[in-house]
Amino acid sequence: MLSTRGYAAMTAKAALQSFSFERREVGPHDVLITITHCGICHSDIHQARDEWGGSISPMVPGHEIVGTVTQVGSTVKTIKVGERAGVGCFVDSCRTCPACREGSEQYCEAGVLLT
Ligand SMILES: [Zn+2]
Ligand SMILES: [Zn+2]
Repeated sequence: MLSTRGYAAMTAKAALQSFSFERREVGPHDVLITITHCGICHSDIHQARDEWGGSISPMVPGHEIVGTVTQVGSTVKTIKVGERAGVGCFVDSCRTCPACREGSEQYCEAGVLLT
């Protein structure tokens, strides 16, 4: 497990506070990014404040990130350690449906894996 620090809302009404948590190890298709910046969009605020219902606390908002790659999985060929990397609002799709094959993963018929 990877020890990680962030700023979390411990409850829907609480101010953000420093928070330590564990992440899974880097898998063969993953990259590990040391985050230097993140945006805080409306989704982060609604989720942290449980305004859409179903939020899980503690919650570390900031799901769109930029940082430096510090580790790559065994099958990753196009991204190298030390490169800058950004992640938007989703990180995976099926890669086989018509939408994915034409480069429109946001319309993946199986659904995307949201951040
Ligand atoms: Zn967002
Ligand atoms: Zn797809």
